[in-house]
Amino acid sequence: MTPVPAPFAESADSRSWPESRPGAWHALASLEQRTRFASLFGNRRDAVLLYHSVGGVPGIDYRWDVPVHVFRDQIRRIAARYELVDLETLATTETSTKRVAITFDDGFRNVYEHALPVLSEFDAPATLFVNSAFVDDENLDRLRERHDLGAAAHDVSLTTDQLQEIAAQDRYTIGNHTFSHANLAELPDRGAVAAEILDAKEWLEDRLDVAVDCFSYPYGGFDERAAEVVAETHEIAVTSEPSLVGPSPNPLAIPRLDACLPASTVAFEVTDVAARLRSLVRRVG
Ligand SMILES: [Zn+2]
Repeated sequence: MTPVPAPFAESADSRSWPESRPGAWHALASLEQRTRFASLFGNRRDAVLLYHSVGGVPGIDYRWDVPVHVFRDQIRRIAARYELVDLETLATTETSTKRVAITFDDGFRNVYEHALPVLSEFDAPATLFVNSAFVDDENLDRLRERHDLGAAAHDVSLTTDQLQEIAAQDRYTIGNHTFSHANLAELPDRGAVAAEILDAKEWLEDRLDVAVDCFSYPYGGFDERAAEVVAETHEIAVTSEPSLVGPSPNPLAIPRLDACLPASTVAFEVTDVAARLRSLVRRVG
């Protein structure tokens, strides 16, 4: 794990930050945040942010965690510039200005404890994609293994009580992330794929008394079988393809940007100019 370069240390926990962008990219992000040059090039495409853990997992130093102060800084920067909307609105309606939706995968308890209070400060909606097998820290060993958490991790998953409290608030949407965080493309047959998807939907709808119409593919992994089952049973599905949302998007394949990065970098990556630069680099590379 590479520590955060010095210019960004003020907005990131340099001890545990997963650094996956070159320094020049962060420098460009920082420049954009100071000058807002992205507005000169047209900046209208919507963005969906993907979070996992916010504010730390008890017992371990979790690599894919965003410290609370960084999370607040990210939301502050984005809320100052764009409209924060719920995922369904973003996936099913169009506007001429950029909107951003916030999503959390895996059902970490720290989202309830640390992220939702920050969202509340900004009146920001969010969708939480939950694995029903791990609620209340059931099947904890399997959960630790699935998320590479380490044996000392504890108090990891949302509780049923917390989920009920979240589900009762209009601001938040509960989504399906399968029963046990299986990679659906690797399951042996359609029956197993359908069970992973439908068991979780039923569990969440029964316990939380809400309709569960949004789905997130674990590991971004899906094939024709999974896409069929999801299309028959959900209205909206999100992937892990790191791009902005195009015009007239397919609501069953909404891409998302990984937000486990310094605040200025996330705020840059939601701009259209950053998206164009990324696809250019991918084509050249
Ligand atoms: Zn996941």
